[in-house]
Amino acid sequence: MGEFDVIARFFKRPARCAALGIGDDCALLQPAPGTQLAISCDMLVLGRHFFADADPCQLGHKSLAVNLSDLAACGAKPLAFTLALALPEVNEPWLEAFAQGLFALADAHGCELIGGDTTAGPLNICITVFGEVPVVNGQSQALLRSGARAGDDLYVSGTVGDARLALDALQGKLTVPADVLTLARARLEMPTPRVALGLALRGIATAAIDVSDGLMGDLGHILEGSDVGATVQVDQVLRSIACYARATRSEDHVGIDVSLEQWRALALCGGDDYELLFTAPPRQRASVAAAAQASQTPVQRIGLIEAEAGLRLVDERGQALPNHYASFDHFA
Ligand code: ADP
Ligand code: MG
Repeated sequence: MGEFDVIARFFKRPARCAALGIGDDCALLQPAPGTQLAISCDMLVLGRHFFADADPCQLGHKSLAVNLSDLAACGAKPLAFTLALALPEVNEPWLEAFAQGLFALADAHGCELIGGDTTAGPLNICITVFGEVPVVNGQSQALLRSGARAGDDLYVSGTVGDARLALDALQGKLTVPADVLTLARARLEMPTPRVALGLALRGIATAAIDVSDGLMGDLGHILEGSDVGATVQVDQVLRSIACYARATRSEDHVGIDVSLEQWRALALCGGDDYELLFTAPPRQRASVAAAAQASQTPVQRIGLIEAEAGLRLVDERGQALPNHYASFDHFA
């Protein structure tokens, strides 16, 4: 099976929203009047982001999910994506499953595959997504990293640290009960991009980012982009990660061989959760709650944006905690 057969058999589908889909030198996209295109690109590399035995269906899902998460963080509505694929061989069952996972998520978000590139080489998956953001009175409605202001509340969606919990458990660094691992592993392998929440936060949130490299590092990008500082109530974040233990056990942490310090590190440094971290002024609290409800996404207030530069951590009682939590950096 050659390159063009692979494309035709596994990836070519009739164009829907695109003016021109797969098959010519370029695809054509027609953004709606009064909108901007939001564009993002993410690459998944074998041995770096996933292992050779990764389930291909889950890999198809995750490859697109991490890209949709970037659109969510900008408050952009998914439109279309391209897929650049390097394959060591044409493994038909693998491609079948990969395409299935990919298209299931794409269809759930009405996001159309409009083109790509297929080549032989070490397994590598690179997706570029295109989304749409309205422009109102000349003003883009995109959620940026630069909009946080002193006095804003800081929120995070869902739970963070779970993907890292699964990774550490799979690598034998910590022990968790099977039911907890199952839940955490789903977060690692099948992340849910918070697209509906991102859309619902347009006009409400002042800044947003998706948590891909860890909460501390990603919050750092907002603080830097907005030229502000923040205080984070660490155990507000912690409480969210511990809810697995709550959901599956009668008491917090029972049966999980994880210290308080480890819980904090998982929540603050663990990456790959693809939750949204965002800010909004206190007068928007009811609107944030409504956005969370409308998008059926839990949201938790975890801190405060301040004029004073830097990132301060406090525990449940407001006591300062040392900040030695770094997040993931591919080259560090
Ligand atoms: P070109 O030589 O102009 O780069 P190709 O021969 O690489 O075009 O690709 C032919 C068509 O198939 C193009 O429309 C391209 O966008 C599409 N395509 C190639 N690989 C993929 C893929 N993995 N998924 C979706 N579309 C693809
Ligand atoms: Mg090509």
